Amino acid sequence: MFPNSSSSIELSRLALENNIDFLRKLVGPDVTISSVLKGNAYGHGIKHMVPELERLGIRHFSVFGSFEALDVASFSTESSTILIMGDILDDHMPWMIENDVECFVFNKIRLNALCKQARLMKKKARIHLELETGMNRTGINPSEWKEMAALLQDYSDCIEVIGMCTHFAGAESVSNYKRILNQKEIFSNGVAYFKGKGINPTILHTSCSAGAIMYPENNLNMVRIGILQYGLWPSQETQVSYMREHKLTEDPLSRVISWRSHVMDIKTVKMGEFIGYGTSFLAEYDMRVASVPVGYSYGFSRGLSNHGRVLINGHRLSVVGVVNMNMFLVEITHAEVNIGDKVTLIGNDGDLSISVSHFSNLSEQLNYELLTRLDKDIPRVVV
Ligand SMILES: *Cc1c(COP(=O)(O)O)cnc(C)c1O
Repeated sequence: MFPNSSSSIELSRLALENNIDFLRKLVGPDVTISSVLKGNAYGHGIKHMVPELERLGIRHFSVFGSFEALDVASFSTESSTILIMGDILDDHMPWMIENDVECFVFNKIRLNALCKQARLMKKKARIHLELETGMNRTGINPSEWKEMAALLQDYSDCIEVIGMCTHFAGAESVSNYKRILNQKEIFSNGVAYFKGKGINPTILHTSCSAGAIMYPENNLNMVRIGILQYGLWPSQETQVSYMREHKLTEDPLSRVISWRSHVMDIKTVKMGEFIGYGTSFLAEYDMRVASVPVGYSYGFSRGLSNHGRVLINGHRLSVVGVVNMNMFLVEITHAEVNIGDKVTLIGNDGDLSISVSHFSNLSEQLNYELLTRLDKDIPRVVV
């Protein structure tokens, strides 16, 4: 199907619909879902995800950088809102303001630059004030609130404060419970403080996926949802906690992504020989091995050397030897496998399935990390 590529990624429309449905029920009708599309939509591809999400009624997207905002805008066909949570390149600022693209403000330098550009353009820049509440990554420290409030009062001609927000430092684990409660309190204080200075944003948001699952009382009027929409949990703990609370025996989410390749070659290896580079795998009997044309340069981690699994013709088979840049080997001694057969790296094959978390556990990567390392050039297709 893809003559120019050794592997392809399938995105399931049905799974995405299921997940958005789940999220709408989870947060209720009064909370806006901002779909987080950083990291090339967690490896799924901004190009494919934006139209699909808009078809499902999503009208708010959050990205990390202004370069991603440009991407989202180019594939958006609805009047969706785009919010930049991280980096802005100077060259992109006029475009942002012109197109009502919103952004986090976490320091005076950014605020000043936005105001200067906005005054030149005679158009207000739309911002979300990010408050520091305890993550200590980006955000305006309580000690700077006074100065910031005064600046915003001066800048009422060039800056419109649309939102106020913060980010929780690890809502996916109960071990951070106390820290999150503390963050919540500082955030409330901050909102009250700025309101007292006449700064009244319409949107308040603090929660990511884990927050929306573990601390729904913090949803306020918008949540920034990444991993859940792709059908994956922020952590096992959030999954178990949600499923127990709702007495579910089956995962209510569906994985959107599948990743497939094919068998490139097959050969026999004699007992006592090493397989692949170095001496990490010894054939202890006569073996048949298949080569699959996917390697670490596409996002198939070297961490899967000698213990990854793939599915071929309804068999779960083991990676043998080290993963190379462009290929890896699989033992097929006991399976019926031919050159050209389909290989599933992530996804279902008959009754068997390889989940992203299985894959990421084996390679000691986070769900998030594995997905975002999938090569941008692997073709994506919506099925
Ligand atoms: C990545 C990110 C999110 C989304 O996180 P998920 O765990 O994928 O839902 C939300 N807010 C901010 C600030 C982020 O950086």
